[in-house]
Amino acid sequence: MDDAENIVKKLLAGDGPAENEYVRLLENYENREITEWITAEAVRLRKQHFGNKVYTRGLIEFTNYCKNDCYYCGIRAGNTHASRYRLSEEEILECCREGYKLGFRTFVLQGGEDLFYKDEDIVSLVRAIKRTYPDCAVTLSIGEKSYESYKKYRLAGADRYLLRHETADEAHYRKLHPQAMSLAYRKQCLYQLKELGYQVGAGFMVGSPGQEMRHIARDLIFLTELKPQMVGIGPFIPHHDTIFAKEKAGSVELTLFLLSVVRILLPTVLLPATTALGSVTGDGRERGILAGANVVMPNLSPVRHRKQYDLYDNKVSMGEEAAEHRERLAKRMKAIGYELTVERGDAPEKNTHRLDLCASPEPVGGFNRRSV
Ligand code: SAM
Repeated sequence: MDDAENIVKKLLAGDGPAENEYVRLLENYENREITEWITAEAVRLRKQHFGNKVYTRGLIEFTNYCKNDCYYCGIRAGNTHASRYRLSEEEILECCREGYKLGFRTFVLQGGEDLFYKDEDIVSLVRAIKRTYPDCAVTLSIGEKSYESYKKYRLAGADRYLLRHETADEAHYRKLHPQAMSLAYRKQCLYQLKELGYQVGAGFMVGSPGQEMRHIARDLIFLTELKPQMVGIGPFIPHHDTIFAKEKAGSVELTLFLLSVVRILLPTVLLPATTALGSVTGDGRERGILAGANVVMPNLSPVRHRKQYDLYDNKVSMGEEAAEHRERLAKRMKAIGYELTVERGDAPEKNTHRLDLCASPEPVGGFNRRSV
């Protein structure tokens, strides 16, 4: 106990604990005294920087085609049972129209790594959104690309990029991904995105198969080094069509503990109470916010496709999780003392790297002309 207390003090003082200290701290995630202390500090910092505001993002899952074969993911390339779809530019813009009316000022375009969309398509899409909604932020979450591609999207106006590192440990990464994928490349992408002036989001699953406390310790150390503006942390949830179908889902308590630890480590971070957390437990969004999170990402994808973006079993996308029921979510937040806001919700400390945004060429192409 004394040992854990000293480690918490170190964390609060901003002296990043060492790997073995993190391990000893994490082993206390069910210790009530330590958990209450960490949570109270996380909430204090969250309120200091963001008051009781909860930022909202409209999540548009625009394709579930993917060239990758991440072993845990329901939309991996090798899953022949997945029912595939992709949206046209016009369909995506329709989601934005709807979202804007509902009060969303950030659109998150997420998808599998779908080679159908060329760089010009993403550029055209980002430009179209920024032209129509200049007061909105565009977040991309479309996986690993080249520096040149990231640069094109950034020059087109993309503001943020989510790319969870998944695990910062090489051997653990190999358990979750095929040989063709590389942790070093994924980390490099994150540093390149930062260099290009994106607000960058990294993150990982809690309880993914083979994960040990020392792996999570490495995740926390990696986050301290990268200093991302956003961190996505959610429990791993098995999908019936993967080799991990029979594995257990990640712990809600450990996920909440980690949200609090990350809030303390990176006090101004944008930290969502994730869909996965809301999927494993009905009050996951609330508990995430009460642990230090400050973002929610309701689903703004066309209702007819929501079930197809099937990353894991029983993924929620309706009711309070649905953008069209924003009011219901607002009520739930109000009931715990928080307030959904209509704001872009940028990171308080912007990226110091600046990109010359003047030289941006006019869009070419536009995938509406090709059949999706
Ligand atoms: N292709 C993009 C990428 O690689 O970043 C974005 C889409 S990817 C499906 C979004 C996130 O879903 C991943 O970063 C992963 O952490 C999460 N995910 C996938 N399968 C999951 C599972 N079984 N349980 C929980 N989260 C999962």
